[in-house]
Amino acid sequence: MGLLDGKVGLVTGGGRGIGRAIALRFAAEGANVVIADVNEVGARSVADEVATTEARALAIRVDVTKLSDIRAMVRRATDEFGRIDVLANNAGVIRVARLLDVTEEHWDLVMSVNARAVFFVLQAVARQMVEQDPGPDGLRGRIINTASIAGRPGGRPMFAPYAASKTAVISITHSAAAALAPYVTVNAICPGRVETAMWEQIDTEWGELEGLPKGEVWREQIAHIPLGRPERPEDVANVAAFLAGPDATYMTGQAVTVDGGLVMS
Ligand code: NAD
Repeated sequence: MGLLDGKVGLVTGGGRGIGRAIALRFAAEGANVVIADVNEVGARSVADEVATTEARALAIRVDVTKLSDIRAMVRRATDEFGRIDVLANNAGVIRVARLLDVTEEHWDLVMSVNARAVFFVLQAVARQMVEQDPGPDGLRGRIINTASIAGRPGGRPMFAPYAASKTAVISITHSAAAALAPYVTVNAICPGRVETAMWEQIDTEWGELEGLPKGEVWREQIAHIPLGRPERPEDVANVAAFLAGPDATYMTGQAVTVDGGLVMS
């Protein structure tokens, strides 16, 4: 028996990286999964992976910055599966630039995907969740937002807009948890330095700014992780499965850091 038997999970940014790991974990726990991503090829390929298990999968192309796409995504998911029990609100982007060089385009792109879209995806899915019948645990849904340790206090001079957007995700999590109680739990995960394409991009962009060879920024950033290894997408998916499952029914409004001990608070 899985933690999510018979549930329906929707994962934005599910086409690769952390979202892919969450989608595969939800499926392994018995959920049917909607994989929503602007990269349709990625979404389809993860749906194909899910389809090799006993779970059903639906791939949807969605640009989460477009409200019409968000509405269509919720409609297609509910047409297919009847309800949405778990939302992993995970799609995100990053740009690296020194604070004095951040442009309006950089700020708008990062905030529109990481903060504005996180809010409107949450709102659209929550509207569906509050209308659906509660499960045996009394809850009508579970929402898990992907924030970041960059959203915690400390300052991120090389990606200030990204850090601001992730602080916004934590704030949205608090407000939504208060607004949607007692029907839906809303929590956030703050990953640390996860081995995905996003970190390859950070390494490239940051390395170019500092004149460092490829891989050097990554090596420096993972050198002092207390638990002694970089984070894997599965480390985040483990906590997402917990927050979606029966052992977290009394948890809401929390931002859970999963970073190998980088930030201790
Ligand atoms: P990734 O770049 O590998 O994957 C992000 C996914 O989001 C991609 O499949 C991409 O196509 C999708 N996406 C981007 N813009 C979209 C849009 N407008 N509409 C729909 N889908 C869109 O990144 P990742 O490392 O897997 O990151 C996933 C989440 O975790 C992000 O929110 C990221 O900010 C966060 N995070 C990552 C790290 C890390 O170290 N990698 C650390 C902390 C938080």
